[in-house]
Amino acid sequence: MKVLSAAAEIYPLVKTGGLADVVGALPAALTGQGVAMRCLVPGYRQVMSALGGITVLHRYADLFGGPASLVAGKAGGLDLIAIDAPHLYDRPGNPYLGPDGKDWPDNAQRFAALSRAAAEVARGIIPGYQPDILHLHDWQAALASVYVKFLGGPKTLLTVHNIAFQGQFPASIFASLQLPGAAFAIDGVEYYGSVSFLKGGLATANAISTVSPSYAQEICTPDYGMGLDGLLRARHAVLSGIVNGIDTEVWNPADDRNIAATYTAKTLNRRRANKREVERRFGLEEGDGILHAVVSRLTWQKGMDIFVESLDEVVATGARLALIGTGEAPLEAGLQAASQRHKGRIGAIIGYDEGLSHLLQAGADTILVPSRFEPCGLTQLYGLRYGCVPVVARTGGLADTVIDANDAALNAGVATGFQFSPVDGPALQHALSRAAGVHADAKAWGSMQRRGMETDVSWDRSAARYADLYRTLTAA
Ligand code: ADP
Repeated sequence: MKVLSAAAEIYPLVKTGGLADVVGALPAALTGQGVAMRCLVPGYRQVMSALGGITVLHRYADLFGGPASLVAGKAGGLDLIAIDAPHLYDRPGNPYLGPDGKDWPDNAQRFAALSRAAAEVARGIIPGYQPDILHLHDWQAALASVYVKFLGGPKTLLTVHNIAFQGQFPASIFASLQLPGAAFAIDGVEYYGSVSFLKGGLATANAISTVSPSYAQEICTPDYGMGLDGLLRARHAVLSGIVNGIDTEVWNPADDRNIAATYTAKTLNRRRANKREVERRFGLEEGDGILHAVVSRLTWQKGMDIFVESLDEVVATGARLALIGTGEAPLEAGLQAASQRHKGRIGAIIGYDEGLSHLLQAGADTILVPSRFEPCGLTQLYGLRYGCVPVVARTGGLADTVIDANDAALNAGVATGFQFSPVDGPALQHALSRAAGVHADAKAWGSMQRRGMETDVSWDRSAARYADLYRTLTAA
């Protein structure tokens, strides 16, 4: 089975979020499923400079305003096809934003080019390469299924990593998309009088997936669908959810150079050395009492306003907190003020530090994820893998990956963490105090940590589900 994947980001070359991790991880994970995946990506400056052994596969005299070529090459262990189009992609930094922090003014054309090229490669423009399935990620590639609808091509799967990002543009850009007039319609890209790439993809893809089953249900409702819930309800029969895996080599407490002491589920007592290191790095008092951690973007989506407002109450229960994050200025200021008010009890580092995020997962007792919505979430998966018990909002992928320690789950010996709902101060504080209650019983806590560590959070199961989906599509 040959699958062409198309996306605007791919780890380790270009990353602004979880999308890149998924796109970068799937090819290797799918190899064991008998799926050969090639990835089509824009030839950003950092992609072109990383590509080795380039061969030109196809030349365009004019691809959305300039000459371009499709080139094959390898980088970061991936088999890539890059769109070498300097007029669109040879720019520094972030894939979407210019130096002024604003979207590039030609983003519609930049990602229409990605989508158009994806459709053409899927149709067999490259001699000797005919994919069976075209797998599209997010709005930047979504338009490919509209091109396939009008040009013809193989079956398409569109994966939505976060429905908040839709690729919406004024109707005036439609003329530049090289689509027939019929595409500007209710079953095409038209969206309340403007053009929406994601909407066009959702209307035309043969199948749609999101990154967790709960999020797949949630986006069919007005509260979570961000205006696309009606369309998603209409397409419910082809919508499914597959949770993301994590890289269990990069995230492995038995072999992690970012932490003070490596450990396994059998040597959990070795985590104490990591707790001491967390205390030292975050300026916390030493102690064996419960220590909650947060590793997060500081935004409304992540519920960080609720977290900041709850800090005084949580500290009053005797708990300590360590946080690393960056984001909205008022939240950063609120955290810094709280860590001043509660010196030694709250440690907040404003910044992004991958190594410290590993240490927190290895040394803290819980990892708190109070998101208002969460398509999948990775932080709680790292927590499970590291014996850092997740305390999560009951939404999206958080609800699907953590088993709440309610009485039934505790009695059955299956709980791996704590869920709460709604996302407000009292519910969050209640969940943290439930966690503290179990933490006080060292035996019960150790069992919960071990169950989390034994949970399969690798890509294996998810890759098998994607492979099933591809097979269902080709058989249909
Ligand atoms: P999202 O992609 O919505 O931010 P995820 O939970 O899917 O949320 O992924 C977030 C990733 O970013 C995780 O790998 C998390 O560890 C990491 N991360 C977030 N903030 C920081 C930070 N300040 N320092 C280090 N890692 C961070």
